[in-house]
Amino acid sequence: MRAEIIAIGSELTNGEKLDTNSQWLSTQLASVGISTHFHTTIADHLDELVEQLRLSIRRSDLVLITGGLGPTLDDLTRQAMAELTGADLALDENSLQIIENMFLQRDREMPERNRIQALFPQGSEPIENMHGTAPGIWMEVPRENLNTNCCIAAMPGVPSEMKPMFTQSILPRLSTGTNVIRFARINCFGMGESKTEEILGDITSRGRDPEVGITAHEATITLRIKATGKSVEVCEQKISETCDLIHERIGDYIYGYEDEELEHVVVALLSERGQTLATCECGTGGLLSYRLTDVTGSTTCYAGGTISGMPGLPADQQNNLVDDGYQFSASGAISLAKETREKYASNYALSIVLDVNQSWQDAENIPQAFIALVAEGVELVEEIGLTVNRAIAKSRVTKAALNLLRSDLTRL
Ligand code: ATP
Ligand code: MG
Repeated sequence: MRAEIIAIGSELTNGEKLDTNSQWLSTQLASVGISTHFHTTIADHLDELVEQLRLSIRRSDLVLITGGLGPTLDDLTRQAMAELTGADLALDENSLQIIENMFLQRDREMPERNRIQALFPQGSEPIENMHGTAPGIWMEVPRENLNTNCCIAAMPGVPSEMKPMFTQSILPRLSTGTNVIRFARINCFGMGESKTEEILGDITSRGRDPEVGITAHEATITLRIKATGKSVEVCEQKISETCDLIHERIGDYIYGYEDEELEHVVVALLSERGQTLATCECGTGGLLSYRLTDVTGSTTCYAGGTISGMPGLPADQQNNLVDDGYQFSASGAISLAKETREKYASNYALSIVLDVNQSWQDAENIPQAFIALVAEGVELVEEIGLTVNRAIAKSRVTKAALNLLRSDLTRL
């Protein structure tokens, strides 16, 4: 069964609100083995809605609609569904009764405009709304040149009304796929998107089961695995086999799964060993410290840190940066890490020097960054290549620092 989702509302297309309904519905459909092929967001315009519905019913077996069922003039879903099939809108007495009762219970008179919510395209079926006034609409539309119907389910836009309606009234009507779909994510750092794809090779080829897709966000690479099978166990087995294959090829770059970030992994590794970390950051505004302190339990292993802009370094650390003119140098970063380790009496110290005084507009002159890691018998330093964007540079350089520590902790 091929499904698609249409989110209706000008507040969505003009950017005021984000369409979260489609995401939620897709995950619900996936859990019963139905794949969603399109998400469409569309403004409150009748002609465009009808045009969209014509297209949708041709290409999908199931069309889920949210929004546009309210009583106001800009709510046009029912009209669009009626126009699609050439049906008239007819009053459903039972729905009117329910809506009137709902107003009575709240001790309010029903405004005349709410009557429209009891109108349904002939041939369609009302779906009761236990959490609001607008009933949903279920309609099966025959398709030209095809022997099958397309099922359309229109639900309210309000998420707290849409979700129970979907679960209680729509889901049981769907001839769910005989398969279930399960997803998994593997998170990697330290390799670009295209290099990752090249090394994974056939694992990412289209049509493979499980499918493996690659996305990148601020230098973190996420591998998204989608498995289809007769049961959850079958899917999980397939996912586990694919994870093993991926590990064989790029194991060193993998740091975590699902929502795990580098800081979670680093804090867990340090805590396991009962070891501590201190940080010193120039030019990142404390982002490294921020990431670390975001992790529950980090107080046991994070000894503290120094945040410094460029010239306001603490006096005792400033020498290291200006001596010999090697500020923003590898040796400057190492010296900072050493001093920080001493100052906080920690097992590890990470330092970042990012030159934020440079102009970020000038592609010829992109600021440099160095990260260093110091521990007993360990002195590592890396230069980090940056892009022309301050926020991404800060994010990337702090992740690189965490990854430097992670690599060292997992090497032992
Ligand atoms: P209904 O079908 O219940 O009448 P409506 O289109 O009349 O919906 P609106 O007044 O447009 O309702 O929206 C009600 C609330 O639901 C708003 O806060 C809106 O942002 C939210 N909403 C509508 N569609 C979505 C969506 N796709 N994702 C998340 N929120 C949504
Ligand atoms: Mg609306």
